[in-house]
Amino acid sequence: MHNNNIKKVVIAGGGTAGWMAAAAFSKLFGHSLSVTIVESDLIPTVGVGEATIPTLHIFHDLLKINEAEFMAATNATFKLGISFENWRDVSQDYLHSFGYIGQGCWAAGFQHFWLKGMQQGIAKDIGEYCLEHLACRQGKFAVLPNQDRNYAYHTDAGLYAKFLRKLSEQHGAERIEGMIDKVNVNQQNGFIDSLTLADGTVIEGDLFIDCTGFKGLLIEQALHTGYENWNHILPCDSAIAVQTKQTKALVPYTRSIAHDSGWQWQIPLQNRMGNGLVFCSQYMSDDQAKALLLANIEGELINEPRVIKFQTGTRRKHWNKNCVAVGLASGFIEPLESTSIHLIQQSIVRLMQNLPTKAMDAGVVDNFNQKMRTEINNIRDFIVLHYHVTERTDSEFWRYCKNMEVPNSLQQRIDLFNQSGQVYKNDLELFGESSWLQVMIGQGLMPQSYHPIVDNMPDDQLAKFLDSIETGVKRRADNLPNHVDFINHYCRAP
Ligand code: FAD
Repeated sequence: MHNNNIKKVVIAGGGTAGWMAAAAFSKLFGHSLSVTIVESDLIPTVGVGEATIPTLHIFHDLLKINEAEFMAATNATFKLGISFENWRDVSQDYLHSFGYIGQGCWAAGFQHFWLKGMQQGIAKDIGEYCLEHLACRQGKFAVLPNQDRNYAYHTDAGLYAKFLRKLSEQHGAERIEGMIDKVNVNQQNGFIDSLTLADGTVIEGDLFIDCTGFKGLLIEQALHTGYENWNHILPCDSAIAVQTKQTKALVPYTRSIAHDSGWQWQIPLQNRMGNGLVFCSQYMSDDQAKALLLANIEGELINEPRVIKFQTGTRRKHWNKNCVAVGLASGFIEPLESTSIHLIQQSIVRLMQNLPTKAMDAGVVDNFNQKMRTEINNIRDFIVLHYHVTERTDSEFWRYCKNMEVPNSLQQRIDLFNQSGQVYKNDLELFGESSWLQVMIGQGLMPQSYHPIVDNMPDDQLAKFLDSIETGVKRRADNLPNHVDFINHYCRAP
């Protein structure tokens, strides 16, 4: 059999995406592939992207990353969910936690029992039936052996890249410092042959991973792959970010606070708070955004507020010829549910699972692109849900979001839940039933009916059932240590 295996992987760009790719490829394929990463100190990374979701455990397990070491090295805190404030309406808050909510039966999820309980006035807020929800509210956290790891991290993006760089170099990845000046495309087959740096160095490769951020130096500027724009359903296109000294107790969740034309994030790290405002430039200028953000943060500023412009959407193909775009080079949904780092790891792991030959067989490439696209569309729908299902009509921005036409795939999910209390389940679904449930209810959707199997349960048993779940969750939450105490004991940065 002719050996057409790829031998040289070249990663362009050293932000979170580039270093995650370098760490994974060098650690897991280091003996059979050479891994080179090119980055330029002259072009800063995007410098945000500090909230994660629980799937990061899968990536860290693959790389055998020690959790306490990673947390100490990146000033990380634990994250059990996101607090959505003013999203349903001004002064109405809810939590999207990463935990499971109650337990249902073979025919109907817990929400059906809860809905009947609500009708009878005996059920509590849906979050009372979820351990992670209660732990967020009480500021508690522990890593418990043999339990689901329904938690993620807040981490310093710059330190995370450094941490991964050390790991990558230990496993043989070669880092080249330099500005990529030219992408050399083969005129015959359209593949990328090499990159030429500003100092004239030429870097050849078989497979190129484009991690150059929004500009997509390889995937777009050289290969002209095309971009599908989602501004009409995700209209925010700007952010302003600033870090402040930590003044508060560290909460185990991200805060997302809706404003008139966007929303503000607060991401607590051990030593500082990451703050930012995501906004729509059609309704708010950069200066207005800066003033609004500064008026709504506490603590001394550590750096100057920085504006970041973006266009929500996705590259038409994430894999084109012998180039795979990872991270912002592949597109950007928006940071509301902290899904970008997850998509980076998905691209990397999927690429490693579909490691091509030099021929870049169409079947492999198409399979990769289809799976990425399905996953991204599902995530996009989940994010759009937050904007669209709202009772807010107090600004032009919210009126637009409430009335905009959403993709059919999302409208069908909303209708299904409204009519029957059922949550649509999809293959390649990142956000499970509990997530959709918390956000749909949190944003104000209340189903018109519940599954009839619930009526098989006599009323007194339903009351006992709901009560036993609630008291069990409360008992477990009461026994958890305080989040800050746990960090001090487990992973305090030196
Ligand atoms: P970048 O960080 O932009 O890195 C690009 C790299 O390419 C740099 O190293 C640069 O030096 C290099 N480069 C570019 N051009 C050249 C050249 N010509 N020659 C050599 N090198 C070059 N994600 C989350 O998961 N959670 C969040 O909470 C979150 N919040 C976000 C908030 C905002 C406002 C934004 C905009 C994004 C957020 N993201 C978040 C997304 C997250 O920031 C990115 O997915 C992540 O940082 C990866 O970025 P990147 O590595 O693709 O690009």
